[in-house]
Amino acid sequence: MKTNPPDVVRKNKVPRCERHHAGLTLEQRAETAARFPAGRQAQMAFLLARYDNNAPLLAVFLGTSARAVRRHARGGVLPPGPRLRRALRRRVLDLVCPGCLADRAVEEAREAERDARRAARRPVRGRAPGH
Ligand SMILES: [Zn+2]
Repeated sequence: MKTNPPDVVRKNKVPRCERHHAGLTLEQRAETAARFPAGRQAQMAFLLARYDNNAPLLAVFLGTSARAVRRHARGGVLPPGPRLRRALRRRVLDLVCPGCLADRAVEEAREAERDARRAARRPVRGRAPGH
């Protein structure tokens, strides 16, 4: 058979989380791929929605400007450069990779616990801790 199935091309485009890919089940890999928005514009729009349309905040995480974020989310402009593309991919993976989501849940639980302990230690108002 000499056909070139289109899903081979698509498979190559499925993003892999370098931290978790090896440890994910096939279902989780498929899930990640299904959740990952196709195209830069869709990815930027996806992130922007997740950040409550807070373009300046998202821009900080992506190492770009709020204007660039809005422009890319709207589309119809030059595609983002390699650095921004990498940052985009990484940020989206953080939100769609089951491994990253699990890591974040653990980290957030740890932080909440730390905050609770800190609050218990400082019942009266004092200096802001650790800033
Ligand atoms: Zn991951």
